[in-house]
Amino acid sequence: MSDKSFPVPSRAERRRAARCKPVNREQLLLRSVDVEKLVEEDHPVRAIWELVDKADLERFYEAIEAVEGEAGCSAWDPRVLISLWLYAVSRAVSSGREIARRCEYDPAYQWLTGLEVINYHTLSDFRVQHEKALDELFAQVLGVLSHEGLVTLERVMHDGVKVEAGASDKSFRREETLERHLDLARQQVKEMKEREKAYGPEVTERVAKARERAVREKKERLESALRELKQIQGAQSDPEKRQKVRVSTTDPQARIMQQPGGGFAPGYNVQISTDAKATVIVGVGVSQAGNDAGELIPAVERMEANLGQVPQQMVVDGSFINQQNLVEMESKKIEVIGPVPDHASQTPAALQKRGVAPEFFPDAFVYDPEENRYTCPAGQKLAYEGQEKRGFSIRHRYRARVGDCQGCPFKGQCCPESKVRSLVRTEEPDEVKAHRQKMETESARTIYKQRSAVAEFPNAWIKEKFGLRQFRLRGLFKVRIEALWASLTYNICQWIRLCWRPKQAVRVGN
Ligand code: SF4
Repeated sequence: MSDKSFPVPSRAERRRAARCKPVNREQLLLRSVDVEKLVEEDHPVRAIWELVDKADLERFYEAIEAVEGEAGCSAWDPRVLISLWLYAVSRAVSSGREIARRCEYDPAYQWLTGLEVINYHTLSDFRVQHEKALDELFAQVLGVLSHEGLVTLERVMHDGVKVEAGASDKSFRREETLERHLDLARQQVKEMKEREKAYGPEVTERVAKARERAVREKKERLESALRELKQIQGAQSDPEKRQKVRVSTTDPQARIMQQPGGGFAPGYNVQISTDAKATVIVGVGVSQAGNDAGELIPAVERMEANLGQVPQQMVVDGSFINQQNLVEMESKKIEVIGPVPDHASQTPAALQKRGVAPEFFPDAFVYDPEENRYTCPAGQKLAYEGQEKRGFSIRHRYRARVGDCQGCPFKGQCCPESKVRSLVRTEEPDEVKAHRQKMETESARTIYKQRSAVAEFPNAWIKEKFGLRQFRLRGLFKVRIEALWASLTYNICQWIRLCWRPKQAVRVGN
């Protein structure tokens, strides 16, 4: 039989002839939902609820004004709001609006709220209104992790990481500009009030109130910026630098800091202490300091407040090592492991960068303490030039004579980029000298090598999984709360990962 007697239908003809199930989008459906079955037995949201449900949340309940038997709306149960925020943070959701949206369709959020939708104002306010209660919850979760053997405080790795603020660097202004803008804002507030008094509100009451609030908040932000500016100026001794001080008009408490990826941007210094046993965060703080020198002692105090004891050993990088910290840690019987920072210009890397050959590194110069001068490998003298105090140490400077170096056959290897060779001798306090010697031992070096892996684990988790690369909230107080929510969520994630077993699984196991 030929193809002509049985023609094959084309694709379009086959599609026209096929019978498909129609989609009716105009119908109304009533569905029954078993809320309990919205999420599986081993869903992390159940673990979060289980942990929060067992916690003592007395302080959260204190703030609720609605009382049984009295008129007024019932408040949302803090257990639900806490669990919502913890689950949201663990899923890189960082806004009350987004949580409210997800309560309408995401099964995990629906399970937590029992299919109710929560107003985003309630969620946003709740996040920042319970600082002390949140601190207590953080400590309680640490207690649970400690009970599970995940926190021992035998070795704590501490690190500081700069996190960008929500403010742009374009929002930074000098004193004159701030004062000019503030005068304008005050004028605006005054004119608005006068206009309203003379003609009544030109728009609806709601719009008028919103406008008034916007102008008032702008004025308050500028006043706060000016206060911060005066504070920074007060701490600056150099009059020229004092004049150049700038602060952000959108987040006056943010400071321009060097960021981990390079470059400078407005940010905050987040200090995280991590127990080495199971990489649990045992303390978190936020500061405005551009360097970590003064952050070690507050970190120990936070751990003491959270767990009632100080760590046995703290491992830190060189930015935390100074005389004051070493003395304080000694008095608290805490062993410190961390390298003593070398003079930046005298490190092998810096010398090599300047083209100095290893045979002409500082070790090759002989110091004569009686004459207080050095002798170079070519036999020439480097005379004492002066001294300067830098942090915990005194730096003595020595310099060769121009004529000696210019006629020297080794000049190309010794000081190729300068006319003459100079040296720095650093005089350190006894505590620092003893610490430097300890850091030369094999055991101290081995412990220090573990630091970055442990200390950077929570940082990486919070940045990669929670998406906290930039603060969403503004101001030191709120930024600290945002960091605290992230750290609490991180610890709960570790508890889920290492300890939690779903109820059904436990039943099967039993
Ligand atoms: S360059 Fe100057 S300091 Fe260096 S070896 Fe020669 S004389 Fe000495």
